[in-house]
Amino acid sequence: MTAHTPSEIISLMGGLGTVLKSEQRTCAAHGPYTDNLMGLGKSRPAAWVGCQKCMDEKREADIRASQEELMRDNAKRSIELRVGRACIPPRFADRTLSGYRAVTAEQKRALRVCGDYAENFLAHAKQGRCLLLLGNVGTGKTHLAAAIGNHVMREFGMAALYVTASSVIRHVKASFDRDSDHTEAQAYQLFQAPDLLILDEVGVQNSTEFERTVMFELINGRYEAMKPTVLISNRGKDDLPTYLGDRVMDRLRENGGKLVVFDWDSERGAIQ
Ligand SMILES: [Zn+2]
Repeated sequence: MTAHTPSEIISLMGGLGTVLKSEQRTCAAHGPYTDNLMGLGKSRPAAWVGCQKCMDEKREADIRASQEELMRDNAKRSIELRVGRACIPPRFADRTLSGYRAVTAEQKRALRVCGDYAENFLAHAKQGRCLLLLGNVGTGKTHLAAAIGNHVMREFGMAALYVTASSVIRHVKASFDRDSDHTEAQAYQLFQAPDLLILDEVGVQNSTEFERTVMFELINGRYEAMKPTVLISNRGKDDLPTYLGDRVMDRLRENGGKLVVFDWDSERGAIQ
């Protein structure tokens, strides 16, 4: 049997208690009131009820608090649904760090930096520290980034979202349509919500002012929320600033942002 406060006992008893004694008291919040000492039967001690208005307020506050908790839970669940495991492309859903084939010294370094980033993600996340994976097609950049995302979701229960730059730009552009189901702010919010954002295929298209603006809004917004981004591009480290602009590069380098250059030949088609 759990302990009940007098007000709960009264309501549990359905008002069946009997008033043994009444006294005039003053509530600090509600002023004068009549307090009743309720007899609750032989098995329970009699109890003063206290200020009725205080009890009503407390009950309303409790209901509000549990409703707010429920809403928070629902919001969290819907974010988890939207940015959960399903957002890592199926091809990369089972990619792990240990599954990455590292033979050369550069490949081993790439694995080491990405491994550290995944394992110490909590510390990196606290600093909003980004990771740039740049270089040739088919060198395993997306594999390693997906492995980081999988690690962050599995080990830390955090949300990771994988998107291509062009899908971000499309989603923001779509918000300008008259019959769009989302506003521009909501478009960015979707990419701001996850603890880790993996932004792939940056710089595939020719750079336009609009795309540079979207990239800045996205990466700067995450930077201000201290949320890390893993950015993947086939452009080299001298070419990327031209595409993204210096403001974005500054954000990516902030707080010791990490860079791995994948400058070896494609492994695609090689025996794995
Ligand atoms: Zn009161």
